[in-house]
Amino acid sequence: MADKSKGQKLQEQLSYTKKNYFELADEKERKEIFEYAEGYKHFLDQAKTEREACDVSVEMAKKKGFTEFRFGDKLKAGDKKYFINRGKSVVVFRVGTKNVEEDGLRIIASHIDAPRVDIKQNPMYEDAGMCCLKTHYYGGIKKYQWTAIPLALHGAVVLKDGKKIDLRVGEDAGDPVFYIDDLLPHLGGDQMSGHANKIIEGEQLNVVVGGLPYADEDVKEKIKLNVLNLLNEKYGICEEDFISAELSAVPAFPARDVGFDRALIGAYGHDDRVCSYPALTAVLNQDSAHTVLAMLVDKEEIGSEGTTGIQCKVYEDLMEEISIALGANFRKVRAASKCLSADVTAAYDPNFAGVYEKMNSAMLSCGTCMSKFTGARGKSGSNDATAEFVGEVRKMFADYGVIWQTAELGKVDAGGGGTVAKFLAQLNIDTVDLGVPVISMHAPYELISKADLYSNYKAFLAFMA
Ligand code: MN
Ligand code: MN
Repeated sequence: MADKSKGQKLQEQLSYTKKNYFELADEKERKEIFEYAEGYKHFLDQAKTEREACDVSVEMAKKKGFTEFRFGDKLKAGDKKYFINRGKSVVVFRVGTKNVEEDGLRIIASHIDAPRVDIKQNPMYEDAGMCCLKTHYYGGIKKYQWTAIPLALHGAVVLKDGKKIDLRVGEDAGDPVFYIDDLLPHLGGDQMSGHANKIIEGEQLNVVVGGLPYADEDVKEKIKLNVLNLLNEKYGICEEDFISAELSAVPAFPARDVGFDRALIGAYGHDDRVCSYPALTAVLNQDSAHTVLAMLVDKEEIGSEGTTGIQCKVYEDLMEEISIALGANFRKVRAASKCLSADVTAAYDPNFAGVYEKMNSAMLSCGTCMSKFTGARGKSGSNDATAEFVGEVRKMFADYGVIWQTAELGKVDAGGGGTVAKFLAQLNIDTVDLGVPVISMHAPYELISKADLYSNYKAFLAFMA
């Protein structure tokens, strides 16, 4: 190879360019990238709802010797703990050797809820040979994308006597699936000329759950009765029990490799399991001198509300309890703490180039993506991390050899979005957004790169180092 010219060398030294992580990784690292993806796909298939993600994470933590933490418990350096919030969110943490008043907490905050179609509280009806469940969608979805695909039903039903039934139908090979119908194109002329927001409306997202009539001439809604009877025989459920249920229809597809070269993964719910799985595994797998927390929270997709969303005081209480258990002043602890708000961003999509600004877009396979700010219309609703903190994190990544990139979500005024970052920042904790670029975010089947997944994991290891 010819020697580089003076200008070429200078350019290399002074210019910033994003690089494809697959291209930079040597054979050993490529192997690690692909191996890590196998564990992730397995996690995705087991954990399609926040309840399942919480359960699976706790099981994984237990296997690594983590034990449950309750408020008031004592803590010491080296302790490995998990804290469960209502079975819908979990914080897994390690107590480090460093003084927590000086060093603070190292927090990786991600979410385990994902957009989906929730079953209403009085959902069941029969019409035209079908029994259906009425729904109210959860999170920002394009409603038309959720029709004519196989769906699974996941969730919990609390019966009259208080007993809780866990339900999961449509995932195993022998299971039936469920279905939301769409109109045939032959009759879809009017529908297709309408606004995409209206071609399937909220009240049309009804899930087909049966078609077999109960054998009794004297009964009116025979198909509905037959489904109710099946549910009652199998789970002890009556129609009234839907009132105290959280049932969700989610895509029944498993996570699959995408492409001849298997570089990408297609799956439901990459947002935000593609960050929560790396956060969890980083804290489970690697010891740290810092006290590190992987927060896997609920309700991000609807504004981080409720008792399981990050705005709930329980997470602040947990940090305070950890501080008290270590004999530290909580105000000093949080002032010294640092947080990566681990959530996905939009990958640049050449099919829709118009909504992106290419220089400041996340490119697939160029590594996990830092967003100094999110928000919309002039950074509104954004955390907007300080240059100092971004500089600090940047150095952590450089020291650890993380391949990563920086971006905004879309071009200015094209739209925008928010994350949990601002809620952690409110606690006086330096926070910046970091996460994997996703193609077709919030669709029933989203796309990510295995390189970005692994880069995200390495970024969290760097943050804990
Ligand atoms: Mn998200
Ligand atoms: Mn989202």
